[in-house]
Amino acid sequence: MTSNILIVEDDEMIRSLISERLKHAGYSAIEAGSGEEMFEKLDQSNIDMIILDLGLPDEDGIVLARKIRARSSIPLIILTARKDKENRIACLEVGADDYLTKSVDTDEFLLRVRNLLNRTKANTKHTILNKPDNTLQFHGWQLDIDGFSLIDEQGVEADLTPAEIKLISVMANNAGRVLSRDQLLDAISTDIDGPSDRMIDAFISRIRKKIESDPRKPEILVTVTGVGYKFAAKID
Ligand code: CA
Repeated sequence: MTSNILIVEDDEMIRSLISERLKHAGYSAIEAGSGEEMFEKLDQSNIDMIILDLGLPDEDGIVLARKIRARSSIPLIILTARKDKENRIACLEVGADDYLTKSVDTDEFLLRVRNLLNRTKANTKHTILNKPDNTLQFHGWQLDIDGFSLIDEQGVEADLTPAEIKLISVMANNAGRVLSRDQLLDAISTDIDGPSDRMIDAFISRIRKKIESDPRKPEILVTVTGVGYKFAAKID
């Protein structure tokens, strides 16, 4: 089945260019010219991914990204003319999965779209297709590293973004070892100019809210003061 990609972009020329590229690559593209239209389209159709511009007429893309994340973990790529680190980090902090500038090479753009969609699809298939050799159990959770999913004892999947799952996977694979924020940032980011401690802190705190019984007293992702974070749960 083809994936439905929603392009949120107010510049009609750019929007139809992105749309053409995606259709040419075999996706179905749906277009929105504003934040309001984006929410309409999200309610009307089954969307598999959002490609979001930042400079929009009604609301800024960062605000929209936050609103999207408040209601779902849908794959979200920011595609913007803004090249500065502050915007990149702000977008990743609110939970965007990737951040690309409009000068991005078409092949690279399509590969990033494809990879993110593949990871999310693997995610929705979960339990049955788990490869036993790359699954970890801890604290009542089952982490499927290849399938990009985290499932609790009742079989319910945690609502984590692909980047959040990636961060947990890297930490679980290094269970008991302290990883610095730089190492964690390297592990999850391919497209950031410089390291940001703040971003990793925000990621960790978001994940804790989703997987720790008491996020204020974490037992799985533990802070090691002055160094970084450690995966402290026992792997069964
Ligand atoms: Ca714009």
